[in-house]
Amino acid sequence: MRLRNKPWAKDKLLEYSNYVVHEPEQHRGKWGGVFEKDQPLHIEIGTGKGQFITGMAKANPDINYIGIELQESVIVSALDKLIEEDLPNCKLMNVNGAELAKYFESGDVSRVYLNFSDPWPKTRHEKRRLTFKSFLEVYESILVKNGEIHFKTDNQGLFEYSLVSFSHYGMKLNYVSLDLHNSDFEGNIMTEYEEKFSSRGSRIYRCEVQFQS
Ligand code: SAM
Repeated sequence: MRLRNKPWAKDKLLEYSNYVVHEPEQHRGKWGGVFEKDQPLHIEIGTGKGQFITGMAKANPDINYIGIELQESVIVSALDKLIEEDLPNCKLMNVNGAELAKYFESGDVSRVYLNFSDPWPKTRHEKRRLTFKSFLEVYESILVKNGEIHFKTDNQGLFEYSLVSFSHYGMKLNYVSLDLHNSDFEGNIMTEYEEKFSSRGSRIYRCEVQFQS
C-alpha cells in the first residue's frame, strides 16, 4: 500500500477515542465493556482503509468488530468511515498484529479475518507473512476454542503458502474457493484491495480454517 505522509493522523486517532481503542492492554479479558453490547468479537488484522470491517459491522449488529492496522496514515481512513457510519459495534486499533497477545487473552476473540495480507514473496521475509506459524500461535492464543480464521487474497503464492502453513499447524480446512466471485458464497463484503484487483480481472481466493486443540 502506498503510504501518504499524514502528520495529523496521530492527533486525529487520539481525538476519536470513542472509535479508536487506546491503551488496549487495559481491556485484556474484558472486551465486552468496550462496546455497547457484550457479544462475540471478530477482528480483522491489516484492516487497511476499513471498508470490510465497517461493512461487516453494519451487516451484523450482533457481532462486535475491531479493525487492527499497523499504519496510522492508513487506519485514519478507516476512522473516517466509522465517523460517517457511527457504528456502535465497530472499533479500531493502531497496533501490530504480532503483539495481540498483549491485548487479548484466550477466548476474547471469536474469529480472525485476514484480507489481502501483504504477500512478502521473498523467502527471507517469510516470518512477516500474517499466516506464518508465529502469527498462527498468536491467533490461537487469543481465540475461543476451535476458533476460525477467514482468509482471502488475490495472491496465488500467498494462498498456497498459507494453506500449507495452516495444514502444518494442524488446522482443519472448512471451506475453500479458488474463485470467490464466481462461487456460490453469499454475503461477501469486499475490501478496497478486493475491489481494485477484481476490477482488473484477478481471481480472489478464500478459505476458512479452524484450530483443533
Ligand atoms: N485488508 C485491506 C484490504 O484488503 O483492502 C488492506 C490490505 S493491505 C495489502 C495490507 C495491510 O496490512 C496494510 O495496510 C498493512 O499496513 C497492514 N499490516 C501489515 N502487517 C501488519 C501487522 N503485523 N499488523 C497490523 N497490520 C498489518
